[in-house]
Amino acid sequence: MKSNTYLTPPETDAMGNAIADYARTGKAAKLIVTSTMLDDDEMPVDLLFRGFADMPAIEQEALRLAQGKILDVGAGSGCHALALQEMGKDVCAIDISILSVEVMRERGVRNARAINLFDERLCDRFDTIILLMNGAGMMQRLENMPQFFMRMRQLLAPGGKIYMDSSDLIYLYENEDGSYDIDLNGDYYGQVDFAIQYKNIKGEPFDWIYIDFGTLCVHAEANGFECRMVMEGEHYDYLAELQLRQQ
Ligand code: SAH
Repeated sequence: MKSNTYLTPPETDAMGNAIADYARTGKAAKLIVTSTMLDDDEMPVDLLFRGFADMPAIEQEALRLAQGKILDVGAGSGCHALALQEMGKDVCAIDISILSVEVMRERGVRNARAINLFDERLCDRFDTIILLMNGAGMMQRLENMPQFFMRMRQLLAPGGKIYMDSSDLIYLYENEDGSYDIDLNGDYYGQVDFAIQYKNIKGEPFDWIYIDFGTLCVHAEANGFECRMVMEGEHYDYLAELQLRQQ
């Protein structure tokens, strides 16, 4: 994993450049997501600018439940932060993409900071922490779960709650007869890598994790958190609520 203070500079920030082009000119070139284990995929840039009405139900529910002082982690173009502001809520949006944070400010996000979730200079306490659009991916690898939950402990106010969504990639491994092809000696099946490409900018490859609800709960509980299923989405995705277990 990169250092706790890492920020993505504009030169290697494929997604940030796409976000900046779209925000500033109304259009963007193709944003391509490649992976060594999944098929290449084009990410529609306008998806990153979705309004509340266009968001999946699990995201809408996370925004409804968010209260008090809210931290939006990996906020991207600021779509959730703007929706929260419109609902009259108090949100701080953070992202490691310097360009995305510039765009958030231009779009009217009042409190947007270019800072890494793991950077201890971020030392406020929040009543709600949201990580959306497979926000669980920001943990990057299962081995990082203890570090992630330790960080959540530092950032949560008493009684604070985390809302994060993810997907269970099990469907990728299902055979026609209903059995599964999973290499039990390999990595966890939701462990993937991505590299994002935009115009001539090829971002560095990074680890990303999709985590099924059961595995998330096991790790959350091992790290002192309770985990609740808030709702399931339309395709193997779900929204989870996590909070520190009462002593
Ligand atoms: N939540 C947004 C964007 C999702 S893309 C949306 O739903 O549209 C994931 C974002 O997380 C990217 O903008 C990336 O720069 C940011 N990110 C990745 N790791 C991060 C970290 N450690 N701290 C803060 N932001 C991070």
